[in-house]
Amino acid sequence: MIKNFSELDLDLNLLDAIEECGFTRPTQIQAESIPQALNGKDILASAPTGTGKTAAFVIPALQYLQDFPRKQAGPARVLILTPTRELAMQVADQARLLAKNTKLNIATITGGVMYQEHAELLAATQDIVVATPGRLMEYIEAERFDCRAIEWLVLDEADRMLDMGFGPIVDRLSGECRWRKQTLLFSATLEGKGVEGFTADLLNEPERIDAEPSRRERKKISQWYHRADDMEHKQALLKHLLTEQAEKTIVFIKTRERLADLRSKLESEQITCSWIQGEMPQDRRNNAIRRFRDGEVNILLATDVAARGIDLPDISHVINYDMPRSADVYLHRIGRTARAGKKGCAISLVEAHDQPMMERISRYIKEDIKERFIDGLRPKHKKPVFKKKKKNKPDSKTKPAKKAKAKKK
Ligand code: ADP
Ligand code: MG
Repeated sequence: MIKNFSELDLDLNLLDAIEECGFTRPTQIQAESIPQALNGKDILASAPTGTGKTAAFVIPALQYLQDFPRKQAGPARVLILTPTRELAMQVADQARLLAKNTKLNIATITGGVMYQEHAELLAATQDIVVATPGRLMEYIEAERFDCRAIEWLVLDEADRMLDMGFGPIVDRLSGECRWRKQTLLFSATLEGKGVEGFTADLLNEPERIDAEPSRRERKKISQWYHRADDMEHKQALLKHLLTEQAEKTIVFIKTRERLADLRSKLESEQITCSWIQGEMPQDRRNNAIRRFRDGEVNILLATDVAARGIDLPDISHVINYDMPRSADVYLHRIGRTARAGKKGCAISLVEAHDQPMMERISRYIKEDIKERFIDGLRPKHKKPVFKKKKKNKPDSKTKPAKKAKAKKK
């Protein structure tokens, strides 16, 4: 396994740009994917959120475009599909940074943009187009976007695209790009919801990569929880965390209604925050994210739907104001902090009925998430105990009779 970017067969201009991005060593997914992609292989890769999947496909794509320079002006040669507009913009930004020492053109085509704005862009020569499936398909149907020149097709966050119902459109786009040479699929997970089945027609004898992030990449998130008696207690805990501990924080909330409640509550406490939720006008959403990213505000309230796929660098704290509905969603949420080498904290506020979920999460991530207390805000209720699954541990020695009985049942 390579340890340094310099071991990869990359042009100097690219190595320089990588260094300027502050990437000193490749992450696990990058070390495993880049050499395969450069060898012309199709790729089916999974790695947790925040482990550098973007550069894992952007770097080899840029190298490919330089190894096989275009001979004349023309349409895009690399197409990257992402589930959301924000993600498309972020991928394009990252690609522009890495391509800064080249003349390669990078454009985005997404919904939420006026059709005229795309006209110029579609007429000009592009090397890489980053697009959301829906809008791109409209242009293809109107014969305004030509897929015949696409040599690389990349699907980013394939699991999210499927979740969001883009499967059929992506299939059609794949058909449109049938002259391509290589296909790369990246996902946080390859399990569940049919990513595997979906990929069968898209990929040609892919290299399958399940990147276990290295210790250095993982392990930087401290996780703990506070028990809350009720809503009021929960809000007091949150206020304390936001004012006393957190720096740059995402607070996750279950529903839009609850988000609105919390927002007005925080406002009345003079705690400023921005917020995003599903079904929000695009410009307001972008504005909220920009204010948070630029540091105008340090608290972002979000629902899971709204927060899909957004990369917000330098988040110090993720707070689960409401517990997620699955351990998988928990991992997605906390993956937003401690990105690639930075430290982070993930704090959950747990009501009595959330306790089983907290324990399920602990088992799922194979880590013991400890409870912490804040003076003056200790919970009044006793920690609920839920029946554990049968485990024949030490007491099997002391009470052999009982154990035998239990077994018969
Ligand atoms: P993912 O797509 O896996 O969720 P991203 O590609 O969004 O992750 O990367 C997460 C963050 O890590 C970004 O801010 C990115 O700039 C940074 N990053 C990527 N690769 C490296 C690296 N090799 N070293 C340090 N930081 C990196
Ligand atoms: Mg990503």
